[in-house]
Amino acid sequence: MKIRFIYPRFEKLVESRAELASLAEIKGVGNFRMPPALGIPILAALTPEDIKIELFDENIEPINYNEDADVIAVSFFTPQAEYAYSVAKKFKAKGKTVIAGGMHPTVIPEEAAEYFDSVCIGEAEEIWLTILSDIKNKMLKKYYYGGYPDLSTLPIPRRNIFKNKSGYEWDGTLVQVSRGCANNCEGCIIPVESGKEYRFRSVQNVIKDIETIGSMDFFFTDDPLVLPNQQCKKYLLQLLEETKKLQPKPRIFLSGSLNISIEKEYLNNLYEGGVVCLYIVFGCDPFSINAFRPGGHKFFNWSLDIVKRIQDSGIHVFTSFGLGFDYQDKSVFDLSLEFAGKANIKTAEFYILTPFPKTPSWFRFIKENRILHYNWSKYNSANVVFKPKNFTDMELLEGYLYCWKEFYKNRLIDSSIDIFKP
Ligand code: SF4
Repeated sequence: MKIRFIYPRFEKLVESRAELASLAEIKGVGNFRMPPALGIPILAALTPEDIKIELFDENIEPINYNEDADVIAVSFFTPQAEYAYSVAKKFKAKGKTVIAGGMHPTVIPEEAAEYFDSVCIGEAEEIWLTILSDIKNKMLKKYYYGGYPDLSTLPIPRRNIFKNKSGYEWDGTLVQVSRGCANNCEGCIIPVESGKEYRFRSVQNVIKDIETIGSMDFFFTDDPLVLPNQQCKKYLLQLLEETKKLQPKPRIFLSGSLNISIEKEYLNNLYEGGVVCLYIVFGCDPFSINAFRPGGHKFFNWSLDIVKRIQDSGIHVFTSFGLGFDYQDKSVFDLSLEFAGKANIKTAEFYILTPFPKTPSWFRFIKENRILHYNWSKYNSANVVFKPKNFTDMELLEGYLYCWKEFYKNRLIDSSIDIFKP
């Protein structure tokens, strides 16, 4: 049997907004291509050796529809959904068995089921072998439910499935260490997709994974890692105790929000463990919710202080400012730029709130009849797909473009952090 994994194309920020394309500096941040997340390499690692596997990443190469594989497995998130359905239709017309998995089929499986022979809902690790066996025995079911596997059994992802592919512009390798989050932030899909309990890989397993990568630049993909609760803090510090021993010294990219511990000792531990950059998403945490609402001066200054403390510990801060939340009004555009200026931010992104299916904002906007359309390709955080509260949709879009242009006016990307460089 041969399986062809497919990662369908999706519209990048600059593709969505041609008016930003001429700003080459922006292109470096908002439009780069990186390998897909780890779902496909993990399934590749679980696939028995007698089954041949290959990948088409449509973001860097065209799909060959004259494929000799028996099974086409398509992994996709919301902005890829329409392309994914067209891919499934074409392969089905050629008699192939097509299977869907990933974030979007997990949250709207009934939609994916219209186009695919079978839909894998949730995390596939514990059901992948069953799916393969059912294909062999011609007993494929319409739905498979993955649940929330114990991460201690995760295999080392087979990242060599990306081998020999040119076109990726960012080689910071992704390393997954946890799943799930106990919080319930407005626009976040993580608790919806991966549950409300934190699950962690063993530290030894993560280190073993890092040692197979062949590079010491990597990105821990999990936003909850830097949350200030005891579980996340304890785990991250244990992990960094081990990364600290790696040679050469690693350069780790972490992501999170302003909801982070700012004790000096904690931040020093992050730095000593190899963290060079923290990607901070503004919009959902209690600090940025209060700092970017009209009259939130006290929180604005506290938020500046959080960023300064992180920078003072030697960690570069890359910010992603969220625009369009109900607690914001038109002042948010200048406030975001003022914040970036005062915090001496060198690398920033701006995103428009997007009600991804089954997130809290999705349910609220449906109830309030505020979803403008379900054109999934536009659900990429560069388009207004809902009716904002304190702006018109055009004001929100123009404010978003204004922020990008103003921030990058006369500015070059900070070349001292080459983890960002294409
Ligand atoms: S935004 Fe972060 S803290 Fe909030 S639910 Fe998502 S992962 Fe958890």
